[in-house]
Amino acid sequence: MTERDTHRVIPLMDQRASSLPLPSTAFDIQRRILPHGLLSDTRGRDLRDLRISVTDRCNFRCNYCMPKEIFDKNYTYLKHADLLSFEEITRLARQFIAHGVQKIRLTGGEPLLRKNIERLIGQLSELRTLDGRPLDLTLTTNGSLLARKARDLKSAGLQRITVSLDGLDDAVFRRMNDVDFPVADVLAGIEAAQAAGLAPIKINMVVKRGTNEQQILPMARHFMGSGMVLRFIEYMDVGATNGWRMDEVLPSAEVVKLIQTELPLVQLAPSQPGETAERWGYAGADGQHDPRLGEIGVISSVTQAFCSSCNRARLSTEGQLYLCLFAEKGYDLRSLLRADASDADLANAVAHIWQNRSDHYSELRSALGPDTGPPVKRVEMSYIGG
Ligand code: SAM
Ligand code: SF4
Ligand code: SF4
Repeated sequence: MTERDTHRVIPLMDQRASSLPLPSTAFDIQRRILPHGLLSDTRGRDLRDLRISVTDRCNFRCNYCMPKEIFDKNYTYLKHADLLSFEEITRLARQFIAHGVQKIRLTGGEPLLRKNIERLIGQLSELRTLDGRPLDLTLTTNGSLLARKARDLKSAGLQRITVSLDGLDDAVFRRMNDVDFPVADVLAGIEAAQAAGLAPIKINMVVKRGTNEQQILPMARHFMGSGMVLRFIEYMDVGATNGWRMDEVLPSAEVVKLIQTELPLVQLAPSQPGETAERWGYAGADGQHDPRLGEIGVISSVTQAFCSSCNRARLSTEGQLYLCLFAEKGYDLRSLLRADASDADLANAVAHIWQNRSDHYSELRSALGPDTGPPVKRVEMSYIGG
């Protein structure tokens, strides 16, 4: 049976139109929270990381994310007027930074499809963290337009980049992107990013059992010693349309074991607290990590929930604030922006929303067991960004 035969597509329930009410305390001048660089939620998690989706469109149709059967020519994408403008994004980003955000990742959909994205990068790159350092500014892309754009992205102020690549074999890659896009063009994009000095480069590979696990070793061999960090991501039950099943998840522990059969690995300490990827270094002849050979990462979003250290907020293309990748609804910050709210009002709303946050979906999934299956109303990853 082919993957297409077994692929289950679940009709889309559009979660984009509805949003959560902004907390009433956000408008209470007596309870105004002034930003001071540290904002904790109900589980003691500080706001540090912001993902901004700049478009809900994509030129790929990876079936774990935007299955062709749903995202077809009849699918209604957001209208241009509904998207946050670059000025609106930058203004909101400033409020998040005032609350302690140090890292911003642009994502989507495919962020390089957003017209003049370089202009937004230019604006964001001028922002400074509270202690005066440049932001850690990065972007996740499918790499299809990277060969053309890498140099301009770098000149605009982008520091580093993450490229998604689910295999090296052309047939497997074309099947996974489902638009017959050749792998050679993404590899050329990665080379262009290296040449432009976007560093360090991370490569993200979503592993789907029965689809691309045979690509794990070729990918590990290819990127070993390249200076790039290959990260294997467990296939997640995000969104509501990809027909996710636990038996298609290949646990990271198995990925590590498979690579170890050929390329010895040693586990490395996390480089920063709250890091989502577990790090494994390639070992040299002495059995110790050889930094020249580099390292891989495994992101076990399904088998080892990391909610307890999740410090990430997500801003959708139309300015809804999501507190969890698996949320059903977000908070409509655009309505505040477009109602002439002051910066203090915006910062105050963000503070009240984050302080009330209690999301920990992956932990609940682990506690309830793997066959619980996804609720059907979650927002799509292509809308809030991965
Ligand atoms: N289009 C860009 C790309 O593919 O890199 C950025 C957006 S994409 C939604 C961000 C990341 O989410 C990609 O690395 C993608 O592989 C990952 N992703 C999407 N759906 C996923 C799923 N069901 N499970 C795990 N990762 C997923
Ligand atoms: Fe597009 Fe990225 Fe989703 Fe693939 S994972 S469909 S490239 S948004
Ligand atoms: Fe964070 Fe939600 Fe993922 Fe848990 S499930 S790590 S809270 S995004």
